[in-house]
Amino acid sequence: MDRASLEVLYAERVVSDRGCSYYVRPDCEEDVMSPEIQSGAPQPADQDWVFLFSGADALTPLQSGPQALWTVAEARSLFADLGPLILTGTWEQRPAWACQVMSHAWDPMRAAAGSLYTLLGRVQDPLFATYGRALQLLNWRQDHQFCGRCGTPTELIDDDRGLNCSVCAHAVYPRLSPCAIVLVTRGEEMLLASAVGSGGRFYSTLAGFVEPGERVEDTVHREVFEEVGIRVSNLQYFDSQPWPFPGQLMLGFHATWHEGDIRIDPNEIEHADWFTKDHMPPIPPLTSIAGRLIHSFLSRH
Ligand SMILES: [Zn+2]
Repeated sequence: MDRASLEVLYAERVVSDRGCSYYVRPDCEEDVMSPEIQSGAPQPADQDWVFLFSGADALTPLQSGPQALWTVAEARSLFADLGPLILTGTWEQRPAWACQVMSHAWDPMRAAAGSLYTLLGRVQDPLFATYGRALQLLNWRQDHQFCGRCGTPTELIDDDRGLNCSVCAHAVYPRLSPCAIVLVTRGEEMLLASAVGSGGRFYSTLAGFVEPGERVEDTVHREVFEEVGIRVSNLQYFDSQPWPFPGQLMLGFHATWHEGDIRIDPNEIEHADWFTKDHMPPIPPLTSIAGRLIHSFLSRH
């Protein structure tokens, strides 16, 4: 299968999996993906953007498509009970805020609620990243209203980017969970695994959380050996992806098989095997770094 055919194959797979057109960015480490971070905490203006959530669900304007956003004025007129507005960055040169809608009594003809998964690939990557940061900042504020050491209510510091306890000086900043994600290859073969609980619906790369004291490279070696019993070498950094489910930063690597046969950890892996481009299982879409790791290898073989 040539490269052009693979591009078509994976483009079609992305569309058919989700029933919509995907925004697919090419593999390029030079891309500027992240939305601009703004500090200084001005007061929200009517024409500023606001990312609305009901719990973990994003609320998007129903009749304008997922790419559309609310202005602060629209949000205040359509939603009766808004939580505090938290500055999350800028979008299209305007301040962008995050806000929880506290009441479920909104007009169902005006707003649609859906998890961030439903926006993945349907909006541009930087907009998705801003949605992800907005939700993570809201969750961080909600989860740290009180000091974890002494129970005192926390206060905002550092232009709203930190929470501090005035009694014991314990400070809390938004936290991310770094994860290593790796595509292991052997010649023209890729090691792909179906995770426990996935029902074998698709196969993906291996991944795991970075433990305290580890380099991310150590995590790659440890996770691959723990999950499939294989030793790897020749680690090559690929790319990263914020993954707000709920707060991971995925750090992607290619690695090559060094030694060992597949011996799965049945607590984590349902099935793992070596695959080639002519014999592929269902794989994740290109909107995930797992899909792009696989695609980048397929495009070269
Ligand atoms: Zn305290």
